[in-house]
Amino acid sequence: MTGKRLFLIGFSFSGKTQVGRRTAEQMGWRYVDTDDLVVQEAGKPIPRIFAEDGEERFRQIEKQVLARVCRRTNLVVATGGGIILDEANRSAMVRHGVVVCLEAQPETVYRRLLRDSEEGAANPVVRPLLQGSDPLQRIRRLKEFRQPFYASAHWTVHTDNLTLEEVAEEVVRGWQYVSRDPKTFSGVKGTRSEAQSPYCAGSRADLVVQAASGSYPVYMKPLSELGERLGQCGLSGSAYVISDENVFALHGPRVEESLRLSGFRVTSYCIPPGEESKSLAMLSRLYDWLLAQGPERGHAIVALGGGVVGDLAGLAAATLLRGIPYVQAPTSLLAMVDSSVGGKTAINHPTGKNLIGAFYQPRLVLLDTTTLRTLPARELASGWAEVIKHGLIRDATYFKSLQDRSASLLALDQEAIREAVLGSVTIKADIVGRDERETTGERSLLNYGHTLAHGLEAAAGYGRLLHGEAVAIGMAGAGFISREMGLLSPEKVDAQEKLLKRFGLATRCANVDRDRVLDAMSLDKKMRSGKMRWVLLEDIGSASLHDDVPQELASQALDLLLA
Ligand code: NAD
Ligand code: ZN
Repeated sequence: MTGKRLFLIGFSFSGKTQVGRRTAEQMGWRYVDTDDLVVQEAGKPIPRIFAEDGEERFRQIEKQVLARVCRRTNLVVATGGGIILDEANRSAMVRHGVVVCLEAQPETVYRRLLRDSEEGAANPVVRPLLQGSDPLQRIRRLKEFRQPFYASAHWTVHTDNLTLEEVAEEVVRGWQYVSRDPKTFSGVKGTRSEAQSPYCAGSRADLVVQAASGSYPVYMKPLSELGERLGQCGLSGSAYVISDENVFALHGPRVEESLRLSGFRVTSYCIPPGEESKSLAMLSRLYDWLLAQGPERGHAIVALGGGVVGDLAGLAAATLLRGIPYVQAPTSLLAMVDSSVGGKTAINHPTGKNLIGAFYQPRLVLLDTTTLRTLPARELASGWAEVIKHGLIRDATYFKSLQDRSASLLALDQEAIREAVLGSVTIKADIVGRDERETTGERSLLNYGHTLAHGLEAAAGYGRLLHGEAVAIGMAGAGFISREMGLLSPEKVDAQEKLLKRFGLATRCANVDRDRVLDAMSLDKKMRSGKMRWVLLEDIGSASLHDDVPQELASQALDLLLA
């Protein structure tokens, strides 16, 4: 039975149509293409089926068409790229015929796609791949998403270096071998919708960060779904959970269990909590541990914790074996809205904070806002400072929603929190998407309040002021300067002050040595080739960069803050 049909599966632009026709000629069989049959059945072209009836309807017709094809004999069948996402389709094909996968490297797919962009434009799944800054990366990711299913083929032909004729020959050869003794490979179980692919338009991710070096999804989901989400992003094998002792005790077991249930081998490493762990010594210990686990490029690091864990684990991931995938599972508010998105990873050096690091984007971010219930109040307040900052620099409506919903937010009402966190991540992701490496200056706007904050943090001694606490005070200073420069009205400076206080943040700080702050700030300045650059507000929701702030004004601001 099996020998009487040949199914060609594979990614778009792997050459199924042409190869199918050629193979059919060689075998003296008929040729059909399931996409053509779907179009006939629906009476309209594929983009219209997707647009008017949805992907689900398309898949439904595709399934019926395939079932019919399975009853015909002496047939070569080219299939749509996503047909293998359905478990029933895969099993029908392996039961009723020989399944051959045409494989092509993402680069080859991309080349062919550009060449045939007319055809690509007609395909509703492929078309979005061409949009945005890095189509090749998106092809790679979508391919990874489907790859486990392509593995259900009896035979695979790598088409990259072959002519059409040669590919057809290889297909026929595969058919000959396999039909002698067709074994069934089950591949991965289950059915997926293309929309579940985290890199697609219509993806069910809560947000897709589109950075120049790659796109990745942000999910607002329980930690118990982490394993499943990793799988969806094409990760498999070993997962190395890196956490700190506080967080791991509270949330580690849930994460380990979720990963195990999704088939990962899981090992975990805990660092002592606190900023001191962002050190070269700790990174070195982490490398020792990771290398002892036998890591491979396809394995993933999972950073479970606050910004300290995220920054350290991210740098380890960026450098281990020249880079292995990593996943951010932030558990502090600051890490959720700030450090987990954007790909800045770093450790500290005795000379200053975050001086050794890399830009390296995670493969996915999963935010479980219920973990905030165990976060100490001071840490929570510190996170609110960055949330408020995002509203101040970018979005007046968002800022207003923080004012209006402050009671629910402070009570950790989950619905309110989810919305506020997602809003904040959206602002951060948008900025990072436009200026991943801080080259145009746009990303620098995220440093509102940070010029003074860095000085204060250093002068107070790291650990005395939390980062967000220093940022709140720094924003009060930058607000003052904005007002004195005639950029921002006094009422708006007050609104900023009031909201910071509402979220439990101080806007002044006594007992810090003024000169030490100035020293630390000028050290910061030296690193930026001499000019002190300030992010100032022109309105709530609008920030800009200034290097013309008089020294006197900066010092007045400092007097105000330290009084
Ligand atoms: P952190 O990682 O030290 O976490 C704060 C404290 O809260 C720790 O003691 C931690 O154990 C605990 N904690 C975290 N989640 C918890 C939970 N759910 N329940 C109970 N306890 C919990 O600090 P942070 O404020 O999350 O991050 C600060 C770090 O982030 C700094 O090192 C800063 O440089 C970095 N950062 C990086 C970026 C970036 O873009 N990469 C941006 C901002 C800040
Ligand atoms: Zn910050």
